[in-house]
Amino acid sequence: MSTYYRLSPEIYFVKGRKKSALYNTLQGEIIHLCEERTRIIELLDKMPFEEILNIINGLSKTEIMEFVRVLKQNGIIRKYENKAYIDKLSLGFPLFMQKHLFNKPAPNLDIAFIEVSSTCDFSCYFCKNYPIKFGCLGCTQISYKKRISEELWLEILQEVNNLRCKTLVILGGDPFLEITSLVNFCRNLDKFNFENIFILTHGINIATKKSRNLIKHYNLKPIISIFLP
Ligand code: SF4
Repeated sequence: MSTYYRLSPEIYFVKGRKKSALYNTLQGEIIHLCEERTRIIELLDKMPFEEILNIINGLSKTEIMEFVRVLKQNGIIRKYENKAYIDKLSLGFPLFMQKHLFNKPAPNLDIAFIEVSSTCDFSCYFCKNYPIKFGCLGCTQISYKKRISEELWLEILQEVNNLRCKTLVILGGDPFLEITSLVNFCRNLDKFNFENIFILTHGINIATKKSRNLIKHYNLKPIISIFLP
């Protein structure tokens, strides 16, 4: 006998380009899904669970079974002996509007601004004026202690790339002041095809050998940004 699983009526599946999310419209919870788990949810609607176990790459059978067990235990999916059609719970929107809201393709991202560090040895007008500095889209001096790892940068760039972003703007502080953080970030750039990579700097540190090598290797386009009083 085959086993079929269906999403519970209150659970909405929203798919991005690769990953996806399950929205529990009754409890307001969102569950993010990786590529493999996204594929499982897609297939649950099409075939018996026994067949899915044999066609998912990237997860072992044990992992697939555990994923389905947790979903079932939390009421996200329900088990059926036959292929069943489960109507979605309507929360007040007519069905045609739900389709309009939930089935839109993921948007393209034109430009991503990425702050690789927040250290700066200048003291410009914005950064000296605490109440206004957070309104500025350019470089900003803030004392963060934590640093983002190379692995996390890779994940962030992957997400940006998935949204078909072609232009990056790297910000600080002055990114060249924390050259190690900048090098760690830039190491990931070779894996993608960003067309334009701008880097905002006050310019004092771009003449060092390390900075020049970095600019040349990654084809960075410096933009000098200083806000003097
Ligand atoms: S160069 Fe940028 S980060 Fe540095 S003080 Fe000026 S505005 Fe702030």
